[in-house]
Amino acid sequence: MSSIKLTHIHKLLPAQVGETLYQFLNYLSGPTVIHVKGEESSRCRVVVTLLHGNEPSGLKAIHQLLLSQFKPAVDTKFIIASVVAARTEPVFEYRMLPGQKDLNRCFGNHKRDLQSLLASAIKDEVQTYQAEAIIDLHNTSGSGPAFSVSVSNSEQHLAMAAHFTHRMIVTDLRLGSIMEQRLACPIITVEAGGAYDDDADLTALEGIKSFLSANDVFKQTQDIEQLHNPRRLELNPSGSIAYAQLPVKGASLTMRQDIERLNFGTTKANQLLGWLPDNNLDTLQLDNADFNVSDYFVVESSDQEGYQLKTKCTLTLFMVTTRADIASSDCLFYFIKP
Ligand SMILES: [Zn+2]
Repeated sequence: MSSIKLTHIHKLLPAQVGETLYQFLNYLSGPTVIHVKGEESSRCRVVVTLLHGNEPSGLKAIHQLLLSQFKPAVDTKFIIASVVAARTEPVFEYRMLPGQKDLNRCFGNHKRDLQSLLASAIKDEVQTYQAEAIIDLHNTSGSGPAFSVSVSNSEQHLAMAAHFTHRMIVTDLRLGSIMEQRLACPIITVEAGGAYDDDADLTALEGIKSFLSANDVFKQTQDIEQLHNPRRLELNPSGSIAYAQLPVKGASLTMRQDIERLNFGTTKANQLLGWLPDNNLDTLQLDNADFNVSDYFVVESSDQEGYQLKTKCTLTLFMVTTRADIASSDCLFYFIKP
């Protein structure tokens, strides 16, 4: 059992909700469960959000729903995780507090550090509800369209995704995220879009409303495009990264400043991604040693710009970030060879 306690709120008065998102965030004391009564109390659905403190669309949506006294079809539990990281100045900047682990890489690891204990407290809590469906709501750190991520493409998982988006990444990656856990009911992750995209706030709000209003949450409302088994392009632990329009001296990798533009488009072979100081790919690695960086990416020497990093084949890139801290601690982007 975990030794971290979540705060439970069973009745939220309008004054406590706060008129603004910041008042609401300040009212929360730490990781919190908000219990909302539905039209029907024999069933329950769960929305987890703010596992990452810099991803506010889910919290914004919950704030809006509470302000409007939205009544869900069934009992609903909103689990709001990284409250402290989110409200640490600058607000909604920290994915996790400095020196701490990424909370959404700590599920199922049975370790005793703070983030792993919090992950296990959230998992234990979710298990007690006998929920019928769980959504884990995020933003991408770079700008881009919404998509869902799931370890299964069962009809139920696809139907859950359809409340939010028409895209699903069906992943074989195992990183320690909540969405990989064996829970008593289906769970998917939704990436509502970029943390600063207005569209993402709307996707989160309309998606949660749809997910919580449906009598049958597993009735699929739109077709889903599926993308299978992405890989992650990562920086070696000793590497350093910069984002710029030209190679940055001293960086082991410089990525194009406008790299986010490639999110979900078709990126053809020979597309410039960035620059390397040397004629090799040693500063890069993939999530899985069975795959080689050189099967997907190449270095080419150029007269003006030194060594250019390019795609070797057609790829679909997503979760592209321009945040150097997130690129080095997590990954540069995910990609699929169509
Ligand atoms: Zn996230």
